[in-house]
Amino acid sequence: MQKDPSKKYRPFPPVALPDRQWPGRVLTHAPRWCSVDLRDGNQALAVPMNVSQKLELFQTLVKTGFKEIEVGFPSASNTEFAFNRLLIEKGHAPDDVWLQVLVQAREDLIERTVESLVGAKKAIIHLYNSTSPAQRRVVFGKSKKEIVEVAVRGAQWIKDRLPKLKGTEVMLQYSPESFSMTEVEFAKEISEAVMDVWQPTPQRKMILNLPDTVEVAMPNVYADQIEWMCRNIKNRESLIISLHTHNDRCTGVAATELGLLAGAERVEGTLFGNGERTGNLDIVTVALNLYQHGIDPQLDFSNLNSLIEVYERCTGMTVPPRQPYAGELVFTAFSGSHQDAIKKGLAEYFDHFWNWLQKEKRVLRNLDERKKQPRKFSIEVKGDKGVVIPLSTNKENEFNKIQAQAVWARYQELQADQKHQASQYTDKKWNGCLNRICSPWIASAIRDFSEEKHSIIWDVPYLTIDPTDIGREYREVIRTNSQSGKGGVAYLLESKFGIELPKEMQREFGPIANEKVDKIGREVSAAKLRRIFLREYVRKAKWGLNKFRTKQINKQIFCNVDLSYKKRPIKISGYGNGPLDALVNALKTEKIKKLKVPNFEIANYKEHSLKSGTKASAISYTQIKTADGKTRWGAGVDTNIELASVKAVLSALNRL
Ligand SMILES: [Zn+2]
Repeated sequence: MQKDPSKKYRPFPPVALPDRQWPGRVLTHAPRWCSVDLRDGNQALAVPMNVSQKLELFQTLVKTGFKEIEVGFPSASNTEFAFNRLLIEKGHAPDDVWLQVLVQAREDLIERTVESLVGAKKAIIHLYNSTSPAQRRVVFGKSKKEIVEVAVRGAQWIKDRLPKLKGTEVMLQYSPESFSMTEVEFAKEISEAVMDVWQPTPQRKMILNLPDTVEVAMPNVYADQIEWMCRNIKNRESLIISLHTHNDRCTGVAATELGLLAGAERVEGTLFGNGERTGNLDIVTVALNLYQHGIDPQLDFSNLNSLIEVYERCTGMTVPPRQPYAGELVFTAFSGSHQDAIKKGLAEYFDHFWNWLQKEKRVLRNLDERKKQPRKFSIEVKGDKGVVIPLSTNKENEFNKIQAQAVWARYQELQADQKHQASQYTDKKWNGCLNRICSPWIASAIRDFSEEKHSIIWDVPYLTIDPTDIGREYREVIRTNSQSGKGGVAYLLESKFGIELPKEMQREFGPIANEKVDKIGREVSAAKLRRIFLREYVRKAKWGLNKFRTKQINKQIFCNVDLSYKKRPIKISGYGNGPLDALVNALKTEKIKKLKVPNFEIANYKEHSLKSGTKASAISYTQIKTADGKTRWGAGVDTNIELASVKAVLSALNRL
């Protein structure tokens, strides 16, 4: 780093706006949202989504309530173009959802973009060009006047082609890209030049998107820029001012919130902030921040866990454990004083709830949301007693009746005299049942309770929102049950045993662990998880290793391997660039092929030392990929790192 950073870096010049209005305002309603997951998010993935992944994410975005979705850059690639056609021709886009497409100010690209939209119900054509001094100078070598001409020509080319989109409701959008680094006066000049071509009216508005393409200043500066534009641009009432922030200074959310105060009415962003560099704005956070202030965000995150699951599967990205609202650890309290305060807060919340139950004498729904099972019993409150009414009398429901009564009894215990004692929540029985029946039951009851508007204001220390509102639960410790994510599993293995599963391997092991835990039917300890892990990866015995020796011959590694296959000894040998490569080649011999071992390559590899007991050992993780595209992870443990990696390869073979 520089001793004197002022020699290398400059402060960001503020906007002259002494009578700024935004600091005194409050947000009262949700903005229009536009998801750019499939475009800005997708372009930043190491492996971009394929068509079926894009479609799944698109449908999930629609289900979540997005009405504007930037689906791609159809002139940039055939995949993007084909995806657009698929959405339109197969009717995947509901009539009230706008398909947004991005295009540069080039005639051929605009032509192709318009073609990609033929037949769409609603479409937003999003034109952009770069406007900041650095982009003008370094990238384009153009004067301000020339840059304005680029935008105007692009706007005209689009306008000329609109007759081709008969039957499509078209909205036009312009972005002076890198707006936040552009002089506000020039941003106004170029935007007004585009407006002159498109002629928006209050009845037929255009979107003016003012991106914080690269975040270079504090969020109050961005808010000033937005307010300056809102106040100075002509025909403000014919514009929908849109925000598009990135997160380079980690204030993308703040910049958007302040930008809304400053007068913007639309927000572009992605789920969990995926996107170039440090990411786009995380829409989930902004929406749930509004929710936390009692404002309907118009997006449904009632089942955030399943949204995370789809997102991670489609994008290959992971949601970090401390991500607001969505992270694995967000609703877990570690400190004793936090736990105590939360307990007291929750107990007070249940008090209000209980009073309401008694007053209403109403039947409660029981619905295990996670399994989507219809209710099998109901509970009616009569006086201070709960009466369980089975919906039919077959055996299964008899069982449910007993379960329900047990739940009810515990619920009553909770309300009884000892309710303000800290111990009640740590009671083992209660914890056990919290994961199975109580939690969804109480969650659905509480939901009914708030739906009926007999709600009380949520005021529990350390929990900014009620986790059950977004389908999550509060935890005092990291727990692993069939509902926990793979993050929890990985966290436990790492924190207790130093086993650092590679991210991709977590994706394989997570569901395996969940299935096992599900069979056990209760929460399991970290030690148990480790046993599940070892049994799955390390202790499978079809392929075993007796000896592995290598020597260097003419810059190549030659290996001699004594294996056992179903306890029968097999000797093989091979050459390679390294020991693992030699092993993979040795496994290609006819002897092995007869045992139906497919050709494979090593796709992924990680190793680290493992301090277990007094002996230092190493663990190695290897992912193999067979010729037909199947992938499997393996793990090996040994005091010798080379042998650990050989064992990891055999472990993966064991699991094919
Ligand atoms: Zn962007």
